[in-house]
Amino acid sequence: MPPSYRSDPRDKIIIVSKFLEDRYGKVKFKTEDPFDVLIRTIISQRNKDEMTDKTFKRMSSELRSIDDYLSVDSRRLANLIKPSGFYNQKAKMIKKAVKIIKDRYGGELPRTREELMALPGVGGKTADIVLSYGFGENVIACDTHVIWISNAIGLVDSKDPEKVRERLMEITPERYKRMLNIEMVEFGKEICRTSRPKCSVCGLKYICNYYNKVYKKRYER
Ligand code: SF4
Repeated sequence: MPPSYRSDPRDKIIIVSKFLEDRYGKVKFKTEDPFDVLIRTIISQRNKDEMTDKTFKRMSSELRSIDDYLSVDSRRLANLIKPSGFYNQKAKMIKKAVKIIKDRYGGELPRTREELMALPGVGGKTADIVLSYGFGENVIACDTHVIWISNAIGLVDSKDPEKVRERLMEITPERYKRMLNIEMVEFGKEICRTSRPKCSVCGLKYICNYYNKVYKKRYER
């Protein structure tokens, strides 16, 4: 028997977090070099995971330090990023960001969200990924999966990434914050897809607004 239906988002987020942890296991975080996380995340923008992996591996074999990124020719950098999409823009953003990190912060990545977001190519999601994976902070990076799933279940009521983040940060217990992005991405790829979610086989349907208000009426009459 599933637990009784709860509508309070603070109750729901605990049910969701435990469900995801049971399904995908406890996330074993290994903190990575923050600078690598930043470069990798910029490359990953509008890119497939496999392509990001390949591109970053190729770049890392040639560019090993911030000074390597400062000295590399922009065209060479763009070629290393290619065939990932938007390689010219990404190369320009990386070169500008690296210069600021060197000139303003002595070559060390800043540790606040505001300072990270002031770097070229860095929005809220990228800043949160750096804080979480690079600095080990309990923050929630909000990508399309997190935004869709949180709205569908009824944890939040907004498509604005900053508003979604603010609300999730408010209602999520500390111990679940860091894992939420990783596990919602898995869940979003496997079950709760942005287009045609597999609600009929979903273990969260009993608390899900989308299932109860849309899916059930449309497909289970
Ligand atoms: S019931 Fe459907 S919309 Fe709700 S969480 Fe599950 S898959 Fe997503």
